[in-house]
Amino acid sequence: MSAVVGRRVALGMLGAGILGGGAALFAVQRASGPAVGAVTATPVAAVTPTPAPTPTPTLSPTAAPSPEPSTTPTPTSSAGPVLEKVPLPGGSITELPGEGNLLAWTVDDGSNGEVIRLYTEFAAATGTRLTYFLNGAYGGWADNAELLRPLVQSGQIQLGNHTFDHADLTSLSDSGVIDQLQRNHDFIEATYGVDARPYFRPPYGYHDDRVDALAASIGYTCPVLWYGSLSDSGLITPEQVVGFAERWFLPQHIVIGHLNFLPVTEVFGRLGEIVAERGLQTVTLDDVFAK
Ligand SMILES: [Zn+2]
Repeated sequence: MSAVVGRRVALGMLGAGILGGGAALFAVQRASGPAVGAVTATPVAAVTPTPAPTPTPTLSPTAAPSPEPSTTPTPTSSAGPVLEKVPLPGGSITELPGEGNLLAWTVDDGSNGEVIRLYTEFAAATGTRLTYFLNGAYGGWADNAELLRPLVQSGQIQLGNHTFDHADLTSLSDSGVIDQLQRNHDFIEATYGVDARPYFRPPYGYHDDRVDALAASIGYTCPVLWYGSLSDSGLITPEQVVGFAERWFLPQHIVIGHLNFLPVTEVFGRLGEIVAERGLQTVTLDDVFAK
């Protein structure tokens, strides 16, 4: 769908910073032509990539797209949203399908254990649903395991695979790609008791057909990219974080943030207000997609 292709232009500016610095390359990735096209083939007016917020005031939780009309709603936990899940498209995803009020707020890395702790406490206090794409090499993931594990077990926080130590997968040998994903997979399973498949986020957004095929060979069939960034993989000010949230917390977006620097933790209240003011409902990927 041309609307989707057009978005790649907008994506090019998103990944500024140390760890998210792959913006330009990300924009030219093969990424998700067929996959996202398949998703937007649901009865959806192609959403144009206008940065203007479109608050959707009276959305019910079942406003999510449902290409399978008679699926039974499947809550992921007693506290979770009741959504009709849609089939996971093949290939990578950059946004959530259809029209609705859903926001997939995802956060990556975890180089600062204090940020992991504070994000998790924010989620626990507010019910915000998040997806963490973690690198098991960072000690904060083991340090915060007891705090985080109940939220992971309930499904409020989903864990995705971001490689073990934030490798650029396109630069590795075939066995190196497998090792990065499998090692992190094993860490997540051992530490949190969950299976992160099929979702992985390639560091810097760098992936190609070879990487995707290798990942899929061990069950990681869905590269998760993004359509909007808090741009906090490097150090920016709390006000800048808020500015990026105002720009990108929009319906059906997958937004990327980072568990690396403290400023975001100073503005959780404001970020929560933006979600509420716009009538958005935070979701994990498992809330949206059937496996
Ligand atoms: Zn990262």
